[in-house]
Amino acid sequence: MGKTAVAVTVTVTVVGVAAVACAVIVNRRMKNGAKWDRTMEILNEFEEKCGTHIGKLKQVAEAMVVEMNAGLASDNASRVKMLISFVDNLPTGDEHGLFYALDLGGTNFRVLRVQLGGKEAGIKRQEFAEVSIPPELMVGKSEELFGYIAAELAKFVAQEGPEFQLSPGRERELGFTFSFPVMQTSIDSGTLIKWTKGFSIDDSVGQDVVEELTKALRKKGVEMHVTALVNDTVGTLAGGRFSNKDVIAAVILGTGTNAAYVESAQAIPKWRGPSPRSGEMVINMEWGNFQSTHLPLTEYDNALDLDSLNRGEQTYEKLISGMYLGEIVRRVLCRMAEEASFFGNNIPPKLLTPFILRTPDMSAMHHDSSPDLRVVGSKIKTILEIPDLSLKKRKVIHKLCVIVATRGARLAAAGIFGILKKAGRDTLANCENQRTVVAIDGGLYEHYTEFRECLEDTLRELVGDRVWEKISIEHANDGSGIGAALLAASHSRYLEDDEK
Ligand code: ADP
Ligand code: MG
Repeated sequence: MGKTAVAVTVTVTVVGVAAVACAVIVNRRMKNGAKWDRTMEILNEFEEKCGTHIGKLKQVAEAMVVEMNAGLASDNASRVKMLISFVDNLPTGDEHGLFYALDLGGTNFRVLRVQLGGKEAGIKRQEFAEVSIPPELMVGKSEELFGYIAAELAKFVAQEGPEFQLSPGRERELGFTFSFPVMQTSIDSGTLIKWTKGFSIDDSVGQDVVEELTKALRKKGVEMHVTALVNDTVGTLAGGRFSNKDVIAAVILGTGTNAAYVESAQAIPKWRGPSPRSGEMVINMEWGNFQSTHLPLTEYDNALDLDSLNRGEQTYEKLISGMYLGEIVRRVLCRMAEEASFFGNNIPPKLLTPFILRTPDMSAMHHDSSPDLRVVGSKIKTILEIPDLSLKKRKVIHKLCVIVATRGARLAAAGIFGILKKAGRDTLANCENQRTVVAIDGGLYEHYTEFRECLEDTLRELVGDRVWEKISIEHANDGSGIGAALLAASHSRYLEDDEK
C-alpha cells in the first residue's frame, strides 16, 4: 500500500516536470499579449466549468435526496453512508446533574464538565481544558494514546471544585465525541473503521473505542462511565437542540465537511432495532463522500483527487471543505504559470508545493477590499517568494478565490437544501407552523465570511423568500463538546431512576 503510493507520486512528479519544461519553451516564444490572452482563457474556462446556476444546484439537491434514501435502505447502497447514530433521545433542556465530555478529532482534544440545572437553570456551570496530543502518540500504540487521554482526564477530574455536584451514589458519566469513521453498535459502543487526519494506530482498528477508553480510565483509577459515543456532527446537533428545539440538522464546515439530521425511525428501512420512544433517530450522513454527475468537477479537481491519499473518495468534501479550497486555487495558478508565464519565464518553485496555499490565506486574499489589492500582493509575495505582481494579475488571483469559494459555498447550500427536502421542510405548506433551524460549526464557516454569506444567500435562493422566513442558520460555536455531555445526560443510565 505504502509502496504503491510512493511509486505513483514519483510518476506524477516526473510527468509534471516534463510538462513544465515544454511549457517554458513554448512560453518564451509567446508575445505578452498572447500570454495575457491565455491567462484569461484559463480563467474563463475554469469559471465556466465551476458554474453552479440554480437549476444545477437543484439537481445536486435532488441527487443528495436519492443518495440519502439509498443509504437509509441499506449499508452498501450508497456512497453516502447514512450511519445510524443510536441517538434517539436528543436533549430537551430538562437534563440535570454533572456530566463530562471528551472531544477527540484532531491534533487537540478537549475535556469538559457541565452542571445542568434543568429548564430553569440550563447550563449552570461549565469548565474545559484543551490538551494537544504529542505527535508520536498519533502513530503509536492504542494503549499509549488512550492511556495519555485517560491520564489527562484524571487530572481534570481531580480539579473538580465543590460547585460541581454529582448525585449521591452515582458514577460520573461521559459523552465521547470521536470524529473518525466508526461502525456504531449501540449508543455506547462502536468499532473503529479507520483512522484519518494524520492518525495511524493499527492495533486499534476494528476495536471497540469505548472499551479501549474504559480500560484506560480504569487503569488510571478514574471512576467514570462512558455513556454516549458520538461524532462531531451528532454532538453539534445535540448542542444546538438543547438551546433551540427547532434545530433539525447540523453541518460541519471545517477541515472536512459532514452533516447529521433527525430522521423519523419509520423512514429508516435498514434499522432493525426496537422503535425508539421518541420515534426519531439521528443520522450521521457522512456526506463528504457524496458524488453525482451534477457536481461541477474540473480537470483541477480530478488531478487533486488523483494525487490524494483517498483517491476516488470524499468527492463532495474535496469541492467544499477547508482542507482543499486553497489547494484548488494553487493548481489553477500552476496552469497559468506553465501555459501563460503568469509569474514570468520561470515557475516559482514554491508554487509546485502541494497545499502551500492554505484556505485561511485564500480567505484573506478574497476579503481584500483595498483598491490595489495589497493583501493579495503581500500573501503571494510571502507564500510563493516572488516579487510584486501587477494589479491586473492580483485581480486574476482574487477572481480565482471568488470562483472556488463560491462554488464550494453554493454546493454546500445545495446539500443543506437536500436535507430540508428530505425532512419535508422545503415547502411553505410544511413550514407554515414550525421553524426550522440548522446548526453549523467549523473554522471555514466561522472565519470565511464571504463563504458563509454566499452559502446563506444561496440557500435563500433555493428555498425562496417565503420559506426562508421560517428557516434560520445558527452558528453552534464548539457545540460538539458540550453536545456530547448533553447526550450523556439524555442517555444517562440513571434516567429511569430519575423518572421514578
Ligand atoms: P477541524 O475541522 O479540524 O475540527 P475547525 O473546525 O477549527 O477544525 O476548522 C479548521 C479549518 O477551518 C482549517 O483547516 C481551515 O481550512 C479552516 N479555516 C480556519 N481559519 C480560516 C480562515 N480564517 N479562513 C478560512 N478558513 C479557515
Ligand atoms: Mg472540529
